[in-house]
Amino acid sequence: MKTFCGRANPTTGSMEWLEEGEDYDYHQEIARSRYADMLHDKDRNMKYYQGIRAAVSRVKERGEKAIVLDIGTGTGLLSMMAASAGADFCYAIEVFKPMANAAVKIVEKNGFSDKIKVINKHSTEVTVGPEGDMECRANILVTELFDTELIGEGALPTYEHAHKYLVQEGCEAVPHRATVYVQLVESRRMWSWKKLFPVHVEAEDGEKILVPPSEVENCPGVPSVCDIQLNQMPSSDFTTLSDVVTMFSVDFSKPVQSASTYYRVQLEPVKSGKAQIVLSWWDIDMDPSGMINCTMAPYWVKPTSALQWRDHWMQCVYFLPREEPVLQGEQLYLTACRDEYSVWYSLQRAREGENKAEEEEHKADVHVESPVCRCRAHLLWNRPRFGELNDQNRTRQYIKSLRKVLKTDSVCLCISDGSLLPVLAHYLGAKQVQYFVLFFRFLHFSLVFFKANHLEDKIKIIEARPELLKPSHLEDKKVSVLVGEPFFTTSLLPWHNLYFWYARTAVSAHLASNVTVLPQSASLHMMIVEFQDLWRIRSPCGTCEGFDVQVMDDMIKDSLNFRESKEAEPHPLWEYPCKSLSDPQEVLTFDFTKTVPQHCLSTEGSVNLLRKGKSHGAVLWMEYHLAPAISVSTGLMQMSNEEGNCEWNPHCKQAVYFFSSVIESEILSDPTAVTYAINFDTKTGEIAMDFKL
Ligand code: SAH
Repeated sequence: MKTFCGRANPTTGSMEWLEEGEDYDYHQEIARSRYADMLHDKDRNMKYYQGIRAAVSRVKERGEKAIVLDIGTGTGLLSMMAASAGADFCYAIEVFKPMANAAVKIVEKNGFSDKIKVINKHSTEVTVGPEGDMECRANILVTELFDTELIGEGALPTYEHAHKYLVQEGCEAVPHRATVYVQLVESRRMWSWKKLFPVHVEAEDGEKILVPPSEVENCPGVPSVCDIQLNQMPSSDFTTLSDVVTMFSVDFSKPVQSASTYYRVQLEPVKSGKAQIVLSWWDIDMDPSGMINCTMAPYWVKPTSALQWRDHWMQCVYFLPREEPVLQGEQLYLTACRDEYSVWYSLQRAREGENKAEEEEHKADVHVESPVCRCRAHLLWNRPRFGELNDQNRTRQYIKSLRKVLKTDSVCLCISDGSLLPVLAHYLGAKQVQYFVLFFRFLHFSLVFFKANHLEDKIKIIEARPELLKPSHLEDKKVSVLVGEPFFTTSLLPWHNLYFWYARTAVSAHLASNVTVLPQSASLHMMIVEFQDLWRIRSPCGTCEGFDVQVMDDMIKDSLNFRESKEAEPHPLWEYPCKSLSDPQEVLTFDFTKTVPQHCLSTEGSVNLLRKGKSHGAVLWMEYHLAPAISVSTGLMQMSNEEGNCEWNPHCKQAVYFFSSVIESEILSDPTAVTYAINFDTKTGEIAMDFKL
């Protein structure tokens, strides 16, 4: 059987559906899965174990047999905990076949085959009865079906079904309860992930302000959760406007309703300011008393010493529909609406002298529709991209470079997805400059944007793919300035934006012989790093709470090595602190003044390790050389001190190549070098790499 997998093709700038072997999909899923991260989450594992032990004892104390239902068993970990806590029998349900197979092996290896039955089904397909999957209903319900938003992985419908059909009334549940907490904040940094701020441009004829269209201003954005490592957000980047408030709880030991609903809490700002963002996280109580608590609370709520790093559960950033000025001490209501899988928030002002009845009435009209982007900008640009467009330092570099390259008689062509460059260029250039923008997607939004700035007849939009560009599109003129950020929505890894180079090659016939290309070139940079925590997601676990999970380690390793050459993966490193062990090194350059060559671009070399530490992997990023002496980095911004702490571009994902032999590099002593071989295949636009320690 063949499967089709979507992949960005950096040579065409498009998503393409590639036919892959049957195994490809699941190897990807395993290789990029969070299982390793969960197994490394000591705090979670310990507390589950405590909670499970307590639940088994409570059932035993009642003189009942302990029958466990473990929904989403993964490696079988929670069922093995239950079995060793004395449970009489466990039904371990796992929908993902490769995982169910792994669970069978792990359970067997740990000697629990007679106590644990692994069932490879979705829990809603499980049957109960003499002929069924389960002989009888369970009296202990164990699950770990939560994502950062708590309910995004379908915990609610799964619980709803389980209570109806699979467990006894009054069953014990581990976790027993989940509680969602919120805090209202003002944060220009986070607000810049949803809004487009006006851009100020110093033009020859005075200051010009590039304004976002009102459609974007009033757009509620997209419903997808914004989950981040909030612990990496410095306190100087936001102001808390309220205390931490409990928004809602779910008791998993009672029937659960998954139907859409809302929750409302009273809120009194502790500070006046602009309410923009609701920060949210949850905790789970493993037992009814609340003594065994596992929390995602960020550093300012919880002492740093108690923080457990994890990537499978982080914190959520919710954007209010609009910014609301709030006053310290005033009465506000915060409403959380949810459907089966997601949550969104809105803020209401309490009305003067409102009584109970009115309050109830008021409640009825607070239900707010799930945010759906109407302006299309939120579909075109993801949240980091909004942040990038709002980055004034970056904009300044582009303005400076445009000033250098634009001449009064320039004919300017821009190739980038939904870029503000043409508008900047227009304001900076002389009146005679002609502007063309080459688009083959997101046409509508750009039109709206140009209209909002009264530029619809100043900038001509060409609706064609670069290879289909005709002289008539350009009014038979040759392009003297070709610009691009470059940014393309299909890019996943830093070098995927090299599509600009391919597009530039495709339009070659339309470029003047003395054309200026902005950026003139790009370079790929590389550095060896030690991660503070990120290494956990790809590192073997061995044993977890005393259970041998090596089968899982092997399975992940197999999947990572499934392709002959291992791949780099994108990670936003501002969220994942690391220390550099080598100097950053430029490894490849791409000359945009020339066309893409036919042959591959390869390099080999070695990089010295300057600091002691564990070489977990290499980080790679692109730098764009806009004009002489003006560059922007999509990776390393600064290496701050002797220790090699790094500051990363907060709007971009960098490429991380995890070394397979981390253990070897742990015993690193005297000056050592890492050798590398990097190959840019101009036919596919992909970069393959190999490292030797
Ligand atoms: N219990 C394991 C793994 C948790 S990850 C541990 O704590 O380490 C959640 C797992 O649940 C995934 O493997 C996913 O495939 C599975 N899953 C999610 N919903 C499910 C459902 N309704 N029925 C069966 N499996 C489910």
